[in-house]
Amino acid sequence: VYQPIISTRTNQLHGAELLCRWPHPELGMISPDEFIPLAEELGLIGKLGQRMLEQGCAQLARWQAAAPDLVLSINLSPLQFRDPELCPQIFACIERHGLAPWQLELEITEGVLMENADEIESNLTNLIEAGFQLAIDDFGTGYCSLAYLPRLQVATLKLDRSFTQGLTTNQATTAIVRSVIGLGHELGIRITAEGVETPEQQAWLVQAGCDRLQGYLFSRPLPPDEFARSYQLPVPDSQPTGQPRG
Ligand code: C2E
Ligand code: CA
Ligand code: CA
Repeated sequence: VYQPIISTRTNQLHGAELLCRWPHPELGMISPDEFIPLAEELGLIGKLGQRMLEQGCAQLARWQAAAPDLVLSINLSPLQFRDPELCPQIFACIERHGLAPWQLELEITEGVLMENADEIESNLTNLIEAGFQLAIDDFGTGYCSLAYLPRLQVATLKLDRSFTQGLTTNQATTAIVRSVIGLGHELGIRITAEGVETPEQQAWLVQAGCDRLQGYLFSRPLPPDEFARSYQLPVPDSQPTGQPRG
């Protein structure tokens, strides 16, 4: 499913975050919070990650003529960064679908940066040097030193939704969010606020200079066809007659 990310500058769609779902015939919709840790434990996260990447890139390729600036955010597990094949796989995937590196924003958590493994560092620097955008997910919830910020070219900090939800009710949270936005901007990094649910949170974040907003206020994560219909993107088999595809 795809959740829109809105630019506060244009009030328009900036991009979409791809989120995994497991529709189970008996158990219903299983949350990724349940099955991602399992996939990691069972050694299946590489395959799952590869499949998400493939589906996301195929989808973005279908949308790119109508929305050439759309950025797709993809979550990567820390375990994927231990795999020396990660970079070649991502390259091959965007090439197969005719995409450029800047069209993907790769979301990692600070946990990735705390592991001092050579493969992790080399995967990260290779991806950044190739022009992929790097986003730090759940920013503010980890235990990581900030020293990586000037060292790695981080494009985006995604402010964890616990901060967004404490805005307007908690003074300390408000101070933290204001400081994170300032810190990011001083370093040339954009800020996306996650979990925006109320117009009050939106108004506060806009006046504080936050760059992008994501949350149920705008939309829940949507299946690709619903996402496409909501944002005037091509939907398979619904092209107006007289305009052949391709
Ligand atoms: P995340 O990357 O922090 O994704 C944001 C989560 O917040 C999503 O949960 C999204 O549905 C939810 N969310 C969005 N807006 C709001 C809001 O306004 N209020 C509230 N309460 N929640 C909101 P979801 O889809 O259940 O995903 C949970 C986590 O599972 C993700 O957290 C991410 O860490 C992981 N995940 C999802 N898809 C993938 C994937 O393809 N690969 C990997 N490695 N992890 C994934
Ligand atoms: Ca994420
Ligand atoms: Ca997050």
